[in-house]
Amino acid sequence: MRGSFRKACWVHLQGRDARSDVERIARLGFEEVLPNVVAVGGPLYPSRVRPQHPQAGGRDLVGEFVKEAKRRGLRVHAWIVSLCYPNPAFESSHRDWYVVNRLGVSCVDEPPYVPHYKWLCPSRPEVRDNLTDLFLEVADRYEVDGLHFDYIRLPDALLPKALRRKYPGVPLEDVAKPEFDYCYCKVCREKFAEEEGVDPVEIPYGSDLYEKWIAWRARQVTETVKHVASRVKRAYPGLEVSAAVFPLSVALRYVFQDWPSWGLDLYHPMLYHEFYEKSVEWISEEAKASAGRGLPVSVGVLADFMKSYSEMEQAFRYALESGARGVTVFAYPLPRPELEEWVAKALAGI
Ligand SMILES: [Zn+2]
Repeated sequence: MRGSFRKACWVHLQGRDARSDVERIARLGFEEVLPNVVAVGGPLYPSRVRPQHPQAGGRDLVGEFVKEAKRRGLRVHAWIVSLCYPNPAFESSHRDWYVVNRLGVSCVDEPPYVPHYKWLCPSRPEVRDNLTDLFLEVADRYEVDGLHFDYIRLPDALLPKALRRKYPGVPLEDVAKPEFDYCYCKVCREKFAEEEGVDPVEIPYGSDLYEKWIAWRARQVTETVKHVASRVKRAYPGLEVSAAVFPLSVALRYVFQDWPSWGLDLYHPMLYHEFYEKSVEWISEEAKASAGRGLPVSVGVLADFMKSYSEMEQAFRYALESGARGVTVFAYPLPRPELEEWVAKALAGI
């Protein structure tokens, strides 16, 4: 089945030239691209559904790239940043849609970890409908082969290990803290109280009920994915729907992703080993754990973490040997010149 192994990369569009980028991507040996059509900050085209990214300034950064990519024979999956949406215009008009932590503080006022961590709450029906409209708008506007969820989760209740030292107040152990614990908005609290008879702010950490509360929140993410995907499939049965997800071993507890239950066509687990203080071999373990369960995955590899050609080659080979359907590289443009050479050579070998 070697011939059917998929070779893809996520692609940033801001400040780029579509024609030369597509040419270069194709020459590196990629057959599929995931251009970032909705970025953190908003759509990179004039959208009727969400205010545009402030830096896009009314322009369409997507159209030409998609046209060039199709002309070059690449498959195109629109990369859509879904729930993380820092956008001053939207924050002020839809303040209630944003997540609230256990202390009752909205992420609009005090975003956790980084200033752009402003997230929409997946429990809200309006958020599910808005995201659906966004997906359908992208499918209407562009000749794409698929639509791709990213940032489809709550903010990290637990950060990947290597990132914990970077932010003040973050415990180094797997311990939840109220200021990083979302979502306790009105809708989440009321819905959970209705179903379980208890206000989640009252639930002690470490209790059985808290486990239930984790699962409940993961279910809100799952329901959002299913809501959007089912409507996309109804309107565009031929489109592939996929998602960028956290590694299976941490997805549920870190970011409330129970992604094996989402029912999508393909998952791209982001096996970015250094974030987890792991070596390249860990990519093999995680890839096997997902593919071994029969989950359709394309292994997400962060190119910049590769220290040599041999590491790059290993990562791609681990993906191939794990039973995964492909490899997805994060991200074009590659941040170091030698990475292009390594990627091209390693892709040619699988
Ligand atoms: Zn909420």
